[in-house]
Amino acid sequence: MTATPRVFNFSAGPGVLPVPVLEEAQRDLVSMPGVGMSVLEMSHRGKFFEGVLAQTEADIRKLAGVPDDYRVLFLPGGASLQFSMVPLNFLPRDGSADYIVSGAWSQKAVKEAKKVGGVKIAWSGEAANFNTVPAQGDLVLDPKAAYVSYTSNETIHGVEFTSSPETGGVPLVCDTSSDMFAGPLDVAKHALIYAGAQKNIGPAGVALVLVRDEWLKRRVADPALSSMLNYAIHADNGSMYNTPPVFAIYIMGLVMKWLLSIGGLPAIRVINERKAATLYAEIDRSGFYTGHAAVACRSLMNVTFRLPSEDLETTFAKEAKAAGLDGLKGHRSVGGMRASIYNAFPEDGVDALVQFMQEFERKNG
Ligand code: PMP
Repeated sequence: MTATPRVFNFSAGPGVLPVPVLEEAQRDLVSMPGVGMSVLEMSHRGKFFEGVLAQTEADIRKLAGVPDDYRVLFLPGGASLQFSMVPLNFLPRDGSADYIVSGAWSQKAVKEAKKVGGVKIAWSGEAANFNTVPAQGDLVLDPKAAYVSYTSNETIHGVEFTSSPETGGVPLVCDTSSDMFAGPLDVAKHALIYAGAQKNIGPAGVALVLVRDEWLKRRVADPALSSMLNYAIHADNGSMYNTPPVFAIYIMGLVMKWLLSIGGLPAIRVINERKAATLYAEIDRSGFYTGHAAVACRSLMNVTFRLPSEDLETTFAKEAKAAGLDGLKGHRSVGGMRASIYNAFPEDGVDALVQFMQEFERKNG
C-alpha cells in the first residue's frame, strides 16, 4: 500500500505539527532507544519519563526566557479547564475580575468565571463582530480587580493583540492557546499564562501553564476545592499529582527541541510574519477577498477572510480541499474562510494557497 501524501493542513486545531517531530515519534514509537518499550507504555514515575518532563520544562524556560520564580505546569483538561481553574483559584467569591472580550474564546472564559465570582467586562468587541482588539485607552479597568484576563489571539475571529494590556499592577492572565511560542513573549508581565497545546506546541490532551510563584501563594481557593482543580497541588507535585498526559508531553518536548533547533522564538516570529504577510497581501490585492480583522490587529496564526457570497465560499472550501489545501472552512459562528498557519505550517503551503486563490478568482471573479 502506498502512503497517502501529506496535504497542506490549515486546521485551527489540532493543527499541523513539524514533520521532523512526527518522524522522530514514529521512529521511536514501538521501542524507545535505551528503554525497549514505547513511551505510551512506560511508568510516568520511571527515569525516562521524568527525564522527558524535566527536559521539556528546561527547554520551555530557555525558549521563552521563563523567569526562575515562575512554575511551569503541564495540566490535563485543555484550555477550557483553565477558564474554570483561573477563577476557582484566584477569584474571591465576593470579589471581581476584569475580562477583555475580543472574541468567542474570551466569551467562554467569562462564562466560566461568572460561575465563581464577579466579572466586569473591561471591553467587548462583540458589537463589531470581534474584528478588532482594544487600544489601551479603550479599557475600563478596576484597580481592585483580582486579575485582568485577555486572549492574546482569538482563534475563531483572527484578531491578535500586538502588545499586552497595561494593568497598573493588577495581575494579568492570558489565554495564549493559539499563539503560544509564535514569537517572543513577555512572561514576566503576566501572573499566569495558559495554552492548550494542540495548535502551536503539541497534541491535544495537555495545557501548558506558566504561573508566578508569588501569585500562586496568594491564591484564594476554597479549601474544599477539588485537588485536580488546584494549581498549588499540581505545582507541589511537579505536574505528577495524577498520571499526566505522557504522550502529549513527550511530543511537546520534541516540538520545543524543534523550535530551539530553528533559532527559537525570534526566528519563528520572522517566519510567521513572512507567511502571514504573503497571505494578507493576496487578500488585499483585489476586492474579491475581504479580511475579517482590522488591519492593525490581524492574527499571524489564523487568517480569516470572506468571499463575495456564501455559495462561492462553499465552492472555495470544496475545491481547495480537492487541491490538497485542507481545513480552510471558517468556524461556523463566523463563516467565510480561515487559514490557520501555525508555527509548523510550511511556507510552500502558503504559496500554494495564494496560487489557488488567484486561480479561483480568475475563474469566479
Ligand atoms: N482558547 C483559545 C484561544 C482556543 O483557540 C481554544 C480552542 N480552540 C480554547 C481556548 C479551548 O481549548 P481546549 O479545546 O483545549 O479546551
